[in-house]
Formats: sequence, C-alpha cells, structure tokens
Amino acid sequence: MGSDVFSRGRLAGKNAIITGAAGGIGLETSILFAREGARVLMADISGPALESGIAKVRELVPHAEKLDTIICDVSKEADVAAMVSHVDSWGGVDVMFNNAGIMHNDDADAIDTSDRIWDLTHNINVKGVWYGSKHAVLSMRKFGKKKGSIINTASVVALVGSATPQLAYTASKGAVLAMTRELAIVHAREGFRFNALCPAPLNTPLLQNWLGDDAAKRHRREIHFPTGRFGEAIEQAQAVLFLASDESSFVNGTDFVVDGGMTKAYVTPE
Ligand code: NAD
Repeated sequence: MGSDVFSRGRLAGKNAIITGAAGGIGLETSILFAREGARVLMADISGPALESGIAKVRELVPHAEKLDTIICDVSKEADVAAMVSHVDSWGGVDVMFNNAGIMHNDDADAIDTSDRIWDLTHNINVKGVWYGSKHAVLSMRKFGKKKGSIINTASVVALVGSATPQLAYTASKGAVLAMTRELAIVHAREGFRFNALCPAPLNTPLLQNWLGDDAAKRHRREIHFPTGRFGEAIEQAQAVLFLASDESSFVNGTDFVVDGGMTKAYVTPE
C-alpha cells in the first residue's frame, strides 16, 4: 500500500458507481466510498430518494472528492449505458457496485408467484447486474484499465434454502452468484475482478418494510442468527469497501458471505 492510502483514503483515485445507492446498503457504501477518497456516482431509480441520499453523504463527508447522482433503472440497458458514460467523463470506471435489487411483496412459492413478478424481479436483479457488468467492462477496456473491481449483490438465499419462500427473488440471486463467478474467470487476465456479496437479512427498508410489525415473521428469521440479530447495512458496506479496494487484489470469484455466521449454524444459542 502506498502512502496515498493513508493520506487520501483506501479508494483514492478510483471512479466508482453504486446502484441502488439511495437504499440501505447502497447509501452506507456511498458514504464509505466517498470518505475513502473515491469519486462516486450514486445511481438509483428514485429521484427523491437520491436527493436525500446525496444530502446525507455531503453532510457526513463534506470534503468528498467528487459526488454526483443519476436516475437509472438498471433493468434498462440504455439507462445503464448512460450511467457508465457519465463516469467515462471522469476517466472510466474503476469500481462498479451492482447492488440495486428488489424483493416484491407478491413474490411467493412455485404455485403463487405470477409471471409478472418473476419477470420484474429477474429484469432488475439479474439483467440489471448483467448490464452493469457489461458496461463496466466496456468502460474499463475503453480507458485501458489494468485493474477493476465489480461487486454484485446476491444474498444468502442463493446458498441456503428458506422455508419462507420468495421463489423469484431466490432464483434471481442464484443467477447473480453463478453469473459473477463466470465473469470472474472470463475477465481475470484483464485484471478485472468480480465478487458476489451475500448479505444475510438486514435492518434495511427492503426487509424491514416487508416484515412490518409482524413479530412472528420477524422471530422466524432472527432465531437463525448465532448473534441473535439482523445485520446492519454498514456491515455490508465495510465488506464492499474491502472488495472494491486494492487490498483485495487476489480475491476473485468469491461468494463473499457477510452473515454473522448464519449460513454456518445448525443450532443457535438460546
Ligand atoms: P433497499 O430497498 O434499502 O435499497 C434498494 C435500492 O434499490 C432502493 O433505493 C431502490 O430505489 C433501488 N432500486 C430498486 N429498483 C431499482 C432499479 N430498477 N434500478 C435502480 N435502482 C433500483 O435494499 P437493500 O437492503 O439496501 O438491498 C440492496 C441489495 O442487497 C439488493 O440487491 C438486495 O436484494 C440485497 N440484499 C438485501 C438483504 C436485506 O435483508 N436487506 C439481504 C440480502 C441481500
């Protein structure tokens, strides 16, 4: 590590895109990336959420190197191309965090999940990651980058089965995992690393709005945590920062699990 890392941050000199940047994991990651010296483009489908998101980053990191927002629906390739071309004007993508994803209220089991919910979920969660990966690679090549880091958000449901089914979501996250692994191998000689982040259930709007005040539904999940608690978005963001930085230069193609031990547990403490 050069002295740059200590004086300017762990992502000094890097241009980063974060999708779903106005949500739980995305916003915490935007704050950390900005704090660690990256130039950050915050992308999200929601304009108002982006506005309050960037205000929060500016408040917490007043000396951010560069900070912009862009409205982008990751399921639309033209939006993703426009998002990447914004960062091309800064010198091309170094870090792409394909994090936007949905878990729909009407997502259910094999019998009750509709085609509409299946397609909507897969268009955002899978195609969005594909488009983000594709345009990141094109940008890195265009600018002759010798290294790059792409992090794709999967989930622990890509690794373990759940008796509380959300079939479209689970299948989409399995696809993210497999796709990321293959991309990691295909692009390894170019210096472009791909890793999948596998978060456990978290205290973010995505899950907490869905659980609402249904205590039984909540308990059904909490009991599987050896730690006895859901994860926090910042705990995912810290892992993403490591994967984005050169500290993880030999970490490629991993299912990077950040779950408080949940997927390794059999019986958890009382
Ligand atoms: P969140 O709902 O807080 O944030 C998601 C963000 O994505 C929102 O700001 C939303 O506006 C945005 N978004 C939705 N559709 C979009 C689209 N088409 N294009 C661009 N942006 C879009 O969720 P979160 O908990 O921060 O989740 C982030 C990622 O982590 C998701 O991929 C999710 O599946 C995954 N994940 C979350 C949990 C959890 O328990 N929260 C667990 C495992 C994995």
